[in-house]
Amino acid sequence: MKETARRLAAVGEDLAKIDAILITHEHTDHVAGLPVLARNRNVRAAVWMTWLTSPAIDWGETEPRLESFQAGAGFQIGDIEVQSFSVPHDALDPVGFCFTAEGVRIGMATDLGYIPESVKYHLRRADLLLLEANHDLDMLKVGPYPWSVKQRVMSRVGHLSNLGMSEYLANDLGNSTAQLILGHLSEQNNHPEIVRMIATQTLDERGLETRVAIASQASPSEVFQF
Ligand SMILES: [Zn+2]
Ligand SMILES: [Zn+2]
Repeated sequence: MKETARRLAAVGEDLAKIDAILITHEHTDHVAGLPVLARNRNVRAAVWMTWLTSPAIDWGETEPRLESFQAGAGFQIGDIEVQSFSVPHDALDPVGFCFTAEGVRIGMATDLGYIPESVKYHLRRADLLLLEANHDLDMLKVGPYPWSVKQRVMSRVGHLSNLGMSEYLANDLGNSTAQLILGHLSEQNNHPEIVRMIATQTLDERGLETRVAIASQASPSEVFQF
């Protein structure tokens, strides 16, 4: 909660004024700290997640202001149109999101073993796309993880590799996507410069002028404006 508040403040936003928090799935790297945040009296944000996801979270004493939805449903939050879609990942009911407001479209897909046609359909025509580039296959193979974890990460319900990301850029990324953000990078099994190099090279080969940013776990990204 402190870190979220600090990062929002850094871009001139206030956690107390946030209307909604959207959760993609119940894995710890996505919900650690959420129960504490939801209990805070100064936070009035509703917490949006799928019907199947909320019971998997240990809320402690107080339940948050929950807004449950069916994976695949579309809904409205303020002036933002939200579209959820299922992604292949080893969580209970994982989703990605598309956000549309004032004619600008943002797509978000992390924590997915591969990109099925149904997900490609939702990510098309995004002006800004946040896509996972989790691991480099070679680094993962020789890296420190136990074999069972390596298998999980590489599986169809694991995480998107640099190769999976670059195949999407090579074959599916539309020319309306002006800004690409690559995120959910593994600290052990990937390197931001490798990700940037692969993405830039693939975009160059297609003659696309999409800007590329790499999201860091340690600091907020710049603010993107349309
Ligand atoms: Zn996950
Ligand atoms: Zn994750």
